[in-house]
Amino acid sequence: MKQVPRYDAEEVHHALDENLRAYDDAKAAIVHALTKVPSRVVDSLASKCLIIVPSVVGLRGIHIPHKVLLGNEVIAFAERVFDLPDDETERLILHQVAHFWLKHKSAALEGISKGEVEQQEKEADELAARWKNEAKG
Ligand SMILES: [Zn+2]
Repeated sequence: MKQVPRYDAEEVHHALDENLRAYDDAKAAIVHALTKVPSRVVDSLASKCLIIVPSVVGLRGIHIPHKVLLGNEVIAFAERVFDLPDDETERLILHQVAHFWLKHKSAALEGISKGEVEQQEKEADELAARWKNEAKG
């Protein structure tokens, strides 16, 4: 299999800079997960996506001020994602990044059919698993 270029943790951290807003443990988990994806995916996130882990106990809603919303897409994770076993946390991070990379619609915010949701979920799971496998060797 052809080796695709990937960033190390420091490079991911540097590339995302202001686009990643999370408390330290969550940020570290996200940066680590993103060492598994091709560097062009990280570059794309850096140019048009904000990744947030809103850190408010019992959060039900969130307003994102314009100055925080640097890009035109947002990936948000619930804090409890980072209390799961590392492997599961990583799988969930890569899954959302795959939705971004595949330009999927938001099942929660856009009206799409059940069939379309299932198709998107399958594609995101497959791509996340592929990134993870490719990063192994
Ligand atoms: Zn999904």
